[in-house]
Amino acid sequence: MDSKKGLAKKFSEKIDEHCPENGVKALHVCGTHEQSILKHGLRSILPNRVRLKMGPGCPVCVTPSKEIDEAIWLAENGVTIATFGDMLRVPGTEKSLFDARSEGNDIKMVYSIEEALDLSKKVDELVFFGIGFETTAPSNAAAILNNPPENFSILSSHRLIPPAMDALLNIDGVDFDGFIAPGHVSTIIGTDDYHAYPNQYDMPVVVSGFEALDILYAILKLIEQINQNQPSVDNAYERAVKEEGNPKALEMMETVFKKTDADWRGIGTIPNSGLRIRDEYSEYNAREKYHIEVENSRDIHPGCMCHLILTARGKPTDCGLFSTQCTPQNPRGPCMVSREGECNIWYKYGGKK
Ligand code: SF4
Repeated sequence: MDSKKGLAKKFSEKIDEHCPENGVKALHVCGTHEQSILKHGLRSILPNRVRLKMGPGCPVCVTPSKEIDEAIWLAENGVTIATFGDMLRVPGTEKSLFDARSEGNDIKMVYSIEEALDLSKKVDELVFFGIGFETTAPSNAAAILNNPPENFSILSSHRLIPPAMDALLNIDGVDFDGFIAPGHVSTIIGTDDYHAYPNQYDMPVVVSGFEALDILYAILKLIEQINQNQPSVDNAYERAVKEEGNPKALEMMETVFKKTDADWRGIGTIPNSGLRIRDEYSEYNAREKYHIEVENSRDIHPGCMCHLILTARGKPTDCGLFSTQCTPQNPRGPCMVSREGECNIWYKYGGKK
């Protein structure tokens, strides 16, 4: 037995020893956590009374159809769109960006905003469809602060994780005993924002890294808080997450973006959960630059239950379309498209419980 496997076994025995008889439901909001949980088979080595649930931790999945429709509208009106590969196949109301590209519109896949900036030298007008949580927003802010070319702008679809965690606490039927907070996002925002959960909702929080042992350790810390009936914020990822986060990244975000109410696919409008480009930089705001006309969007297509998956009220195998009519090759909903989507991850690794 190698040392990591041995440690994992020890953690799992400790978790079994300390987990209350009536069980613990831990909720995380991170596609990378879910990947690690399935890749390392953590659900199968944990006692049955520990339930690991995933909330809205996939930025591609929570991008509403309306914003995909906006990108398609721009492409159909002569603007080059650049975005991450995962976004291409996510269903909009009538079609995906991939479908729109097949119809002859200029839609490019890029790996970074820098690549989009390079592309803008070769086309008339380019819009970067910028999605992502607090982890990607700083690089987009930096690009704007660096005086990008006049033909470049951003369709901002950023979402913020703490407001989504707030929302989960107020949605009927979302049942859990503590948060496992996302490591990547926490490296940017720090841990301050999480104190509202133990203080106002008696909800424990443990910030976790992404290795199997990180997650097991975080579960153990969560159980300790529950047993002591002392909800607090534990940072179990101290090697990367500082209490104050990344001040430089936060400052850039604050300079360029303003918090705004935003729609989340399958969840609805969450106050102050999105980022809009401030008026000072409106020449780089695609929504200001172009008069985009989009109406009557539809987020959840018949038979898809991404709205329940994204709010931890269902799991992929509850969906009648999972792995039959809905696969990564033929996704019927956003959670099957992205490698951070729960349905995609369960399809890839074979989810349990
Ligand atoms: S399996 Fe497909 S259709 Fe079902 S919830 Fe997941 S993405 Fe939606």
